Amino acid sequence: MWRSMIWGMPSHICRFATQAALDVLPTHANLCRWRAPVGAACVCGVRDTLMHALNGCELKLPRFKWRHDSVLIQIAQHLSSKGHLVHADLPGFSRPLPAFLTHQPLRPDIVLISGTKIDLLELTVPFEQNFSDAHLRKTRKYTHLLGLAKEHGLIPHLYCFEVGSRGLSSESWSVFCKKFDLGDLKKKGLLTALRCSYVIWTTRFLPWEDPPP
Ligand SMILES: [Zn+2]
Repeated sequence: MWRSMIWGMPSHICRFATQAALDVLPTHANLCRWRAPVGAACVCGVRDTLMHALNGCELKLPRFKWRHDSVLIQIAQHLSSKGHLVHADLPGFSRPLPAFLTHQPLRPDIVLISGTKIDLLELTVPFEQNFSDAHLRKTRKYTHLLGLAKEHGLIPHLYCFEVGSRGLSSESWSVFCKKFDLGDLKKKGLLTALRCSYVIWTTRFLPWEDPPP
């Protein structure tokens, strides 16, 4: 998948993807390793590895949310174009939810309702080595909603899937794309995550204003 993605990719994104995959970008941790006269810590105080820069830094949470929502809106638009009724906290997709979900403090990213069927979709954009942890954490977070949905006479399914911040696919992303017949979106979602990570990386020393997806 990754190899097929780099065809047609702009050269700067391709270079970033390769350097990120090999972990040879000039993070403070790498600069230290290369004996540059800098400390290994990020301004937040934590060791500035690539995983920290792309996924971990507490000071960059709005940037990570922007990347997550950039992928999410593509999924919502695609599902909507296929005739699904999409409920999501995104512009154009905020429809009323079933009563049992309205008062839940934690709700998955997208809810699809068709008759008595309800699909709960949750996207995470983690660093690839955290795919399993992210999957387990999100599954645990929303499993209780399945019981609640059943109590309300619905037939629920929970899909938690991960798109890697360096543009790599998880097994759960492949399964989800196949299940919902998402075609090109499988590659597009990965590319969007990668492009957003490029922006997050190149603006890491700059103040943040959400750029367009
Ligand atoms: Zn930091």
